[in-house]
Amino acid sequence: MTPPSVGRSGHSDHGGFPGRGLAKGLAVTLRTMTRRTVTAQYPDVQPDLPPRSRGVIALLEENCTVCMLCARECPDWCIYIDSHKETLPAVEPNARARTRNVLDRFAIDFSLCMYCGICIEVCPFDALFWSPEFEYAETDIHELTHERDRLREWMWTVPAPPALDASSEEPKEIAAARKSADKLVAAQAAAGRTDSSDVAPQAGTPLQADAATPAATATPADPATQPSGEEPAS
Ligand code: SF4
Ligand code: SF4
Repeated sequence: MTPPSVGRSGHSDHGGFPGRGLAKGLAVTLRTMTRRTVTAQYPDVQPDLPPRSRGVIALLEENCTVCMLCARECPDWCIYIDSHKETLPAVEPNARARTRNVLDRFAIDFSLCMYCGICIEVCPFDALFWSPEFEYAETDIHELTHERDRLREWMWTVPAPPALDASSEEPKEIAAARKSADKLVAAQAAAGRTDSSDVAPQAGTPLQADAATPAATATPADPATQPSGEEPAS
């Protein structure tokens, strides 16, 4: 019985011709040589990043109510928030004064951040966003703590959200804003009619203004559009 042939590497060359492995290797080399290069030419050419890339965290300060949820939930404790309370005078004679939180400091230490995105997920007021911007390396580690102004600047690099599905329900914020805008337009139109009724009508012109029209009465703003973060003074 003839023993199986053994190659130079010591492995048996079962069911093949001698030098089969060498031919396979050369074939891979040839195939790779004829392919287009995939080397990223960064920084000469910017990478085409997916829109949901986690580059840096941006802060929309106007939406932040200093609820501290993000700082509490951050597993690395790398969000620093300072604030103080401000008392707002009562808007009506018998109403109570109100207090609100005022942001003094909001900073994220990106040398500690692990880009988990928990802070963005838990923020109930949409004040934090991912930006795909990643070119913020520093030679001094202290510079990686971005204060509120720098975090606000990143907002300009946050990509627009993808369009809604055509059959989806209108977001409640947009529906509330549209409702308020419609009420305002109706109130302005009614006020315009009331003003014109003060002028003596021309002969043959029918009176159209009606001060008792519901749209002419002042309508309170929709609660959904009220600024958040205010609470009754204790
Ligand atoms: S991404 Fe994660 S680690 Fe970074 S600040 Fe937010 S919660 Fe903290
Ligand atoms: S969770 Fe949002 S609203 Fe609350 S402190 Fe953080 S960024 Fe501000």
